[in-house]
Amino acid sequence: MHWLQIGNIAVTRIIEIEEPFLVPDKMFAEATPEAIAPYRSSLEPRALCPQTGKLILPIQSYLIRTERHLALVDTCVGNHKSLAGFKRWAGRDDPTYLSALSAAGVAPEEIDFVFCTHLHLDHCGWHTELRDGRWHPTFPNARYIFAKEEYAYAERQYRERGDPVFVENVVPVMEAGRGVLVDTDYAVDDTLYLESTPGHTPGHCAVKLKSRAESGVVTGDLIHSPLQCPHPEWNFLFDDQPTLARTTRRRFLERYADTSTLILATHFPSPSVGWFRSAGDAFRYEYRDEL
Ligand SMILES: [Zn+2]
Repeated sequence: MHWLQIGNIAVTRIIEIEEPFLVPDKMFAEATPEAIAPYRSSLEPRALCPQTGKLILPIQSYLIRTERHLALVDTCVGNHKSLAGFKRWAGRDDPTYLSALSAAGVAPEEIDFVFCTHLHLDHCGWHTELRDGRWHPTFPNARYIFAKEEYAYAERQYRERGDPVFVENVVPVMEAGRGVLVDTDYAVDDTLYLESTPGHTPGHCAVKLKSRAESGVVTGDLIHSPLQCPHPEWNFLFDDQPTLARTTRRRFLERYADTSTLILATHFPSPSVGWFRSAGDAFRYEYRDEL
């Protein structure tokens, strides 16, 4: 397991799934074959599967060891979930995620904080696990951080659409007394804090890491693909607030382009991590070759 250093913080990726997901114009309406033709050679084979023509998408957590805490950002799909809206990953019974955590030398009991960029099904699945027919927090000693607006959004999705994410992944954490509802500027300390990035969902937050003069930021779903660097205006299929999602994405790219801040991209294909660089009036992604 390779860890990278951001000052005195160590970071690694815990991958649950990495597979061809959807063809580009299903993920982004504007990403027609003609529109992506100029990028095809740079995308294949890492980001675009040459056999299926689908964009490759990892589902992963970032595991973060600061000088004081162990934290996870996002917890993937999880096992035995109902996933009303996305049956492809429903009812999984797969040891990959917890095995990867163990390979990183970390037991679930050791996690101090569980962050969640937003409450979609592929970001909070391992918040809970099914034991004896009941959902329990997977990380029994952790404080699970939920942005209040995001919590209210997930609750609404449950009430209005019957989305089971809230009852399977969030309610059991609150009932066990492990959940903490926070504002979108919440900080654990000056090394680990939220950065409000609404649009994909109303309470979406990136997670910022800072140590000495170095920094990194976990994107969550404010951006899904390196294709959105040259095209920040391309919204993802499930961006909940399209205009806000576009504005937030461009501002985020502008803020970090040509800086040393390491981008810990949630859904960019492996190795996922790199830097935003400006390119004309848009951007490009420069991968860091490890991790
Ligand atoms: Zn996602």
